[in-house]
Amino acid sequence: MRLPTNLARLSVLSAVSALSVLSACREKPRAPQEFDGASALGYIQTQVAFGPRIPGTDAHQRMGDWLDSLLRQRADTVIVQSWTHRTARGDTLPLRNFIARFNPSAEKRLLLLAHWDSRPTADSPRSRDSTQPVQGANDGGSGVAVLLGVADVLKRTPTGIGVDLLFVDGEDYGDFTKDSADVLIGSRYYGAHQLPGPRPLYAVLFDLVADKDLQIYQEGNSLVGAPEVVELVWDTAKSLGYSGYFIASPRHTLIDDHIQLQKAGIRAIDVVDFDYPAWHTADDTIDKVSSASLQVVGDVAVALVRREQ
Ligand SMILES: [Zn+2]
Repeated sequence: MRLPTNLARLSVLSAVSALSVLSACREKPRAPQEFDGASALGYIQTQVAFGPRIPGTDAHQRMGDWLDSLLRQRADTVIVQSWTHRTARGDTLPLRNFIARFNPSAEKRLLLLAHWDSRPTADSPRSRDSTQPVQGANDGGSGVAVLLGVADVLKRTPTGIGVDLLFVDGEDYGDFTKDSADVLIGSRYYGAHQLPGPRPLYAVLFDLVADKDLQIYQEGNSLVGAPEVVELVWDTAKSLGYSGYFIASPRHTLIDDHIQLQKAGIRAIDVVDFDYPAWHTADDTIDKVSSASLQVVGDVAVALVRREQ
């Protein structure tokens, strides 16, 4: 995921909104806490322990097998989309999307998604060593952890609506500035191979959501493509006392998996904390993320499901 080159940052934190953020930080979080932030952090630790989950590597294969087995223990149905992708440089990548379905026949459905691969090279301009891979504790690891935590909740206390948890592969493989077909690969594949049956009401992508310094601003392409979903998600966070973390103003505009879903006709938004200095560096490690941040985002994800029941 990256900032598009042709769009200026929508950096708009005015003095007025800075004041409102400060006052919001003083709200006491009040959360039902069906979601378990500590076990979600454990899911990041497990992912990082596999090593970088780069398509085509053993670690990627083992991580996918682990995800598959965890989802089969929790969901009603697991669908695996498996294919090979030929890159612009001529590499052949074995890729898998996993779709964990709860109440697969329900008409009313939500779609929550995250990417499960990690980036082959730490090529951020801030990177001290661009020959290193990215560990992806936050970039990849955190979204998966939130979705797995939601799967635990839905297994423990089932919902009446349909929920699909989509884990897309190959989000972060290529160069976002050159190889447009070699990034967002799994979400593009999903958009072209949607499941039969009713469409989700909307979709929420979780990316970079476990930074210890959590600040999730509204994302530009989400505001353009599905403003009502942005409003719903930030209102839900506010109702949980989390408006100090889900800050109700725009900041970045990003190329991420939600774009591919929007192109496929789904009302999709990106919940992303792009103010993360370790992004696409070798420093995206477990010490940068926290169970407290996962708790906030996981509580919001579960509340979105519960409010539709
Ligand atoms: Zn990334």
